[in-house]
Amino acid sequence: MIDQETIQRIMDAARIEEVIGDFVSLKKRGANHIGCCPFHNEKTPSFYVSPSKGIFKCFGCGEAGDVVAFLKKHEHYTYPEALQYLARKYNIEIQEEELTPEQKERQTERDGLFHVSEFAQKYFADLLFNDEMGRAVGLSYFHQRGMSDDIIKRFGLGYCLDEWSNFTDHALKNGYSEAVLEKTGLTIFKEESGKKYDRFRGRVMFPIYSISGRVLGFSGRILSSEKQAAKYVNSPDSDIYNKSRILYGLYQARTAIAKANKCYLVEGNVDVVSMHQSGVENTVASCGTSLTVEQIRLIKRYTPNVTVLYDGDSAGIKAALRAVDLLFAEGMHVRLVLFPDGEDPDSYAQKYGSTALQDYLAQHEDNFILFKTRVLLDGVKDDPIRRAELISETARSIALVSDMLERAEYIRQCAHLLHVGEEVLGSAVAKAAAHARQKAYEEAQKTGDTQGVEASVQTEDSVSGEDVRQEQPQQQVYTASSAPVEAERHLTQLLLNYGNNKVQQTIAGEDGSQQTMENTVAEIVVSELRRDNLSMVHPLCQRIFEQCSLMIDMAHKIDVSRFMNSADDQLRVFAISLMMDTYSLSDTWRKKGVFVPRIEDNLLQDLTESIFTFKSGRLAQMTAELRERLRGATNEEERELLLQIQQYSAVARQLQQARNIVIAPHHSDF
Ligand SMILES: [Zn+2]
Repeated sequence: MIDQETIQRIMDAARIEEVIGDFVSLKKRGANHIGCCPFHNEKTPSFYVSPSKGIFKCFGCGEAGDVVAFLKKHEHYTYPEALQYLARKYNIEIQEEELTPEQKERQTERDGLFHVSEFAQKYFADLLFNDEMGRAVGLSYFHQRGMSDDIIKRFGLGYCLDEWSNFTDHALKNGYSEAVLEKTGLTIFKEESGKKYDRFRGRVMFPIYSISGRVLGFSGRILSSEKQAAKYVNSPDSDIYNKSRILYGLYQARTAIAKANKCYLVEGNVDVVSMHQSGVENTVASCGTSLTVEQIRLIKRYTPNVTVLYDGDSAGIKAALRAVDLLFAEGMHVRLVLFPDGEDPDSYAQKYGSTALQDYLAQHEDNFILFKTRVLLDGVKDDPIRRAELISETARSIALVSDMLERAEYIRQCAHLLHVGEEVLGSAVAKAAAHARQKAYEEAQKTGDTQGVEASVQTEDSVSGEDVRQEQPQQQVYTASSAPVEAERHLTQLLLNYGNNKVQQTIAGEDGSQQTMENTVAEIVVSELRRDNLSMVHPLCQRIFEQCSLMIDMAHKIDVSRFMNSADDQLRVFAISLMMDTYSLSDTWRKKGVFVPRIEDNLLQDLTESIFTFKSGRLAQMTAELRERLRGATNEEERELLLQIQQYSAVARQLQQARNIVIAPHHSDF
């Protein structure tokens, strides 16, 4: 947990145009910076960054948010990761909350492990290119496999000399302790004999990176044909390295995965590097383990689409089949490519070249469930019991597919394969789905629903209108995606952009005396709407209004970052659109030399007008609705409705009278 004060310091230090400028080429235009949107393809820039508001907005695809939202979307960081990234960029030391002495020690220890891992990676890479043995054995091996120096450097590959303790001696000489060397597993110490030796001696080295590019561990491949030595040796799990939570190549592949909206999953490190060399950069491998849920979730940050590549031997097929249910259960769309007998992506690329590999991938992508059914069907032959088992097995797989259309398509195709009616398989799927739901429910009961907790931590949305919304279902005149009427839109804009600005109103007392009151724009809007019990029609406007009301009640202040960081994409994008629109509009007009009085220049007048327009529009609309209902009403209902109409008319009259009283705006500066 990063404490609030540090978060505030990070957010204060972060300049949005600098942060985004590291990823997008921005040009200053007026008060904004503009560039080509990184989230959709475009040639003319419609991506706006507002330094003063700390937000960005794309008028092409609608993506919008603050600096943290940008990093989450662009770099696929979690909230804490985005903060850490910013802290590093702006040299802010992160104060971890309530760190016990033990935790502090652990932190120092972790730093030590990171340092020695990075040191080792640099040393091994240096040996590969600059040592005689390194070049003769390691580099020539990589070159033989068709890898260019560029790719070798991109993956930080290296070589560990085939001597007992060359690396360990070098590390000790450079001040690294035996303890960190042992914890990272780079060195093995034999207590009885007092001997120490390099775990990876005589191996080519594949460093394993975190998403942010730090070296966490290694995978080393033996080159000699010693029979008793394992082909691959991996770092043991440590405080920084956990093999079930790491994917080999993800650091190098992440941008390509997001861009292609697809991730290729292969079996080995060499396959990953080879695929990159062949121009297929959206490739990762689970190194040394069968696929885990954590690894799938890592992929899911970038894309829901996974294509599994593996060689067609029976061990490969079995491994892939085990992964399928796990992938589907995580809501991934899974496809597969089966290589011809005895080939893997690396050997195929070497034999036929990059273009042929890419063509092969494109042409041989297969639907995983159908494939699974086909493979299992082969083993069933005519055994009726095993065939029945296969049907329910297939139904279980299909039940895991979350997309309804996709599911229906699977049912259709698998029913055909299994020679059963679609309705038979369909009802088996429904049963399996009900069973899975029941199980998930029981699990949730047992563990307590953690999802809600996670969500609230991520958004930190303590002031939230969620509950209010659930109790009072919205009148669905407008959906969230339709545009609000102008009056609502403008009023909401005032709340977001000028909510905390103070305005002074002069109110004439009954005795003719004049009284001056100072309130914020938000306080006035909230009290005005509440007084007449009015709500907004557009669901998103209403949610913003509700949340603003809560903020006023609790803190007398609008905190727009709540909207800018909202986990609800629709709400966030909507709020930011409103915040940006005024901004860029008035700016463009100014540039054209047209004089447009800015809202700030006469905030009180604009506010009064807006509230009047909104209220009279709303009253007219509600009265019309009541009149409509009068048509089919019973006598009793009619009395009730007429009474309501009368009340609305009274409010409308008061409103008109109030408007006729000249309001003299006091001088106020903002
Ligand atoms: Zn865009």
